[in-house]
Amino acid sequence: MQSCESSGDSANDPLSRGLRRRGQPRVVVIGAGLAGLAAAKALLEQGFTDVTVLEASTCIGGRVQSVKIGHATFELGATWIHGSHGNPIYHLAEANGLLEETTDGERSVGRISLYSKNGVACYLTNRGHRIPKDVVEEFSDLYNEVYNLTQEFFRHGKPVNAESQNSVGVFTREEVRNRIRDDPDDPEATKCLKLAMIQQYLKVESCESSSHSMDDVSLSAFGEWTEIPGAHHIIPSGFIRVVELLAEGIPAHVIQLGKPVRCVHWDQASARPRGPEIEPWGEGDHNLDAGEGGQGGEEPRGDGRDEDEQWPVLVECEDCEVIPADHVIVTVSLGVLKRQYTSFFRPGLPTEKVAAIHRLGIGTTDKIFLEFEEPFWGPECNSIQFVWEDEAESGTLTYPPELWYRKICGFDVLYPPERYGHVLSGWICGEEALVMEKCDDEAVAEICTEMLRQFTGNPNIPKPRRILRSAWGSNPYFRGSYSYTQVGSSGADVEKLAKPLPYTESSKLAQGSSSKQQPGHLLSSKCSEQSLDPNRGSIKPMQVLFSGEATHRKYYSTTHGALLSGQREAARLIEMYQDLFQQGT
Ligand SMILES: Cc1cc2nc3c(=O)[nH]c(=O)nc-3n(C[C@H](O)[C@H](O)[C@H](O)COP(=O)(O)OP(=O)(O)OC[C@H]3O[C@@H](n4cnc5c(N)ncnc54)[C@H](O)[C@@H]3O)c2cc1C
Repeated sequence: MQSCESSGDSANDPLSRGLRRRGQPRVVVIGAGLAGLAAAKALLEQGFTDVTVLEASTCIGGRVQSVKIGHATFELGATWIHGSHGNPIYHLAEANGLLEETTDGERSVGRISLYSKNGVACYLTNRGHRIPKDVVEEFSDLYNEVYNLTQEFFRHGKPVNAESQNSVGVFTREEVRNRIRDDPDDPEATKCLKLAMIQQYLKVESCESSSHSMDDVSLSAFGEWTEIPGAHHIIPSGFIRVVELLAEGIPAHVIQLGKPVRCVHWDQASARPRGPEIEPWGEGDHNLDAGEGGQGGEEPRGDGRDEDEQWPVLVECEDCEVIPADHVIVTVSLGVLKRQYTSFFRPGLPTEKVAAIHRLGIGTTDKIFLEFEEPFWGPECNSIQFVWEDEAESGTLTYPPELWYRKICGFDVLYPPERYGHVLSGWICGEEALVMEKCDDEAVAEICTEMLRQFTGNPNIPKPRRILRSAWGSNPYFRGSYSYTQVGSSGADVEKLAKPLPYTESSKLAQGSSSKQQPGHLLSSKCSEQSLDPNRGSIKPMQVLFSGEATHRKYYSTTHGALLSGQREAARLIEMYQDLFQQGT
């Protein structure tokens, strides 16, 4: 590792000049979900005062969305605090009394089995039969044994065999099927039921992974996701309370709602000699790419910088406002990046990052809440699980669009009824969830009721009086629910996604343009490690940083992963500037 300490005259570098004049670097955070809020809060707490959060939608929270109806809160997004010991979300909630009303039934240990303490899961078949409890238990034990095997490939570096296609779904289906078929004790009818249950379990699993199917999830990478020890918890007053607690430390003016960002123009200072003008889309091409020359004109910003001084990053919003910044922290979902990375960054992202965006996966998991006048289920029933007997031999979890409802794995009974009323919460994932999102409430309520009638064998179940559901896949600000390691990807791709720009290796721009020395001796060693330009021996300060759940190698897909990723990126900047702050410049 090279030290920054010999790299030049601080008096004449952009970072310290900017700081001297304005006292502060300007940081723009894109997105006011948990990652964005955690990043902004950490920066503000460390003395950064020029921080702006730009949020596309009209509320904070992102994929945390709690809907209050009467006394109850329904979570369209995050529901569970996954694990407690060392989970920052748990500690925040606990310290602020958010878990005081969490009932035993809203606290569970081990792999999540929703509301399992409040009765038993009713596994029903499409012929209206209930699968006996002992058969369900035997199957569940068998499935869990195989699930544990799936973890070992990553944890013990076991090689995956070719037949598994490195897919959790293919491996699990084959392994469980073979064990069922090889069991000498089970009669044929029981074997058939157990074989049909595999698909139901895989549907639940893919809802938890937010993949279209477990066939898409990488077997060799599956075990890298790490469970935090301790119980899982529900926050009765709503997960959004955690978001509100984070936001309490952030002055209102910092967060701009309804402010979608269109494009992040980075590497501006090294790309061109003068401040560019931004043309709105449709009124001519963007011409901000490196090497296209300056636009000239007046310095429009009144930000205290010299006319010839450059902001490294310009954040262009949908409303055409352009916000100059020293650093931008991008927290938008992997789904948004997949859809928009080509237009969202100018110059474009390095090939390695683009490849990581392609390789990693994000699918849609949606929830469907149905409220009934009266319960038609017994008090001992905690969930209704749909097992299609004709799927015993199926090799796929993909359905034609008109059969989208077959992907609904089941409905959980929300508990306690004094809080929620008589409400069932259903889960659906993948392409079929996207089809569901296109249907209207009436059609979804109708089809769910039909399924409940068919599987319970009770044709008199009335239609629900209310339906509430999510639409994470089609929402342009999310484009999916949460990320997973898709077949062909690994944790290394998560690291690549998280790597700040410009890259160490990316020396091209520095060579071709700015000859200014960067404030190497004022930057900490961590920063120098990441941004030292090996060809010039100078520092390129980080301009675009990436956080959000998909950038956390061990805790992707979770709220704590999102929060920690925001803090991680804030810490990079805090460390980079700590010496300057200490000098009181
Ligand atoms: C159905 C569902 C169930 C879940 N269940 C759990 C659970 O039980 N436990 C758990 O821990 N986690 C759960 N999660 C995952 C958890 O919600 C997420 O991991 C976490 O909230 C992601 O936070 P984030 O800040 O990374 O991203 P986000 O919350 O997506 O924040 C990014 C923000 O960027 C904004 N944005 C997007 N585009 C732009 C733009 N162009 N300009 C400006 N702003 C933009 C978005 O509006 C959004 O607010 C669940 C998620 C879903 C969808």
